[in-house]
Amino acid sequence: MTKESLCPQCGEPSPLGLCDRCRRERSTLLAVADHLEVTVCPVCGSHRVQGRWRDPGAPVEELIYEAVASEVSVHREVEDPKVEISISKLNATQYLASVRLSGTFGEVGASEERTVKATALRSTCDRCSRMAGNYYEATVQVRGSAGAPGSAELEESRKIAESVTDNCLERGDRLSFIQETKAVKGGVDLVVGSTQQGRAIARAIRERFGGSIQESFKLAGTKDGKSVYRTSILVRLPRLKAGDLIRARGAFLEVRGFEGRRTACRSLRDGSTAYLSEEEAEDAAVVGNRSSAERALVVAEDRDVVEVLDPVSFRTVSASRPASLEAGAGDEVEFLRFGGDLLILPPREGGGVGRRS
Ligand SMILES: [Zn+2]
Ligand SMILES: [Zn+2]
Repeated sequence: MTKESLCPQCGEPSPLGLCDRCRRERSTLLAVADHLEVTVCPVCGSHRVQGRWRDPGAPVEELIYEAVASEVSVHREVEDPKVEISISKLNATQYLASVRLSGTFGEVGASEERTVKATALRSTCDRCSRMAGNYYEATVQVRGSAGAPGSAELEESRKIAESVTDNCLERGDRLSFIQETKAVKGGVDLVVGSTQQGRAIARAIRERFGGSIQESFKLAGTKDGKSVYRTSILVRLPRLKAGDLIRARGAFLEVRGFEGRRTACRSLRDGSTAYLSEEEAEDAAVVGNRSSAERALVVAEDRDVVEVLDPVSFRTVSASRPASLEAGAGDEVEFLRFGGDLLILPPREGGGVGRRS
């Protein structure tokens, strides 16, 4: 045991100079700004934190809470510090935050309290002011390859564009917005705030329908000494869709999907895979699509032929049997009509024979 020493300030026993109590009184345990501001967009409710706009969602009190919390600094010798912040509203723009610290400082308890005045400023955010100012970076042009794509595809493309736009915004692309949707000859134009967003939309549409993407840009002028470019992203939808039953290369083929520029098909007769070039896909005759297939009951079958009951005429009709069809008498099969014939479809890939919808 060392010789007992005393605190030079209060005279209490203290092994190392000032005692904890006196040191605590001389230290700033809790430091925080007297005043801070949060900025909220009156149009969309976004808020600005450290110069950056963030998405709406949080009420002003919560923003102030976070701003105060990020400002607070606690003396590093305070152990088990606990900080409580409570916000009260003074008027439309003024708030008061009380910050309370508790913990221990050496051998003694520590607590301190501060108040922070917070002002909520209102200012239109970068995104809203650009939307209002007709700002855009890119146009996604969705087109059919041979004439207008079906309106169902355009409608779905629009929905895809909306959800991709939301995703881009959530991931922090503040310029992700759809400025305008224009119906044009042969398709639709989506005028968008951000080039990245436009590319993401184009990729998502191609993923859904197949097709090709072609990008070009042109100089639209200068702003603040910088060149401003506008990008055009052309999404050419393929003429064929997944599930189409087509006639090509002298056979009936079902379109399975798209691999680059090639259309992947499955032969109706033997189930083999065939890849059509763009020209072949362009020339193929479309019989129908699986989504509009009818269902018929198998009455009898052998290796090459199935006899089914036509659900419209109630007659028994013979049709070629797809190699991969395992259905027997009493099972249901899907078929499309072609001329006077029934084309029995092979079972859906990954599914059983008779999945009732
Ligand atoms: Zn002391
Ligand atoms: Zn806004």
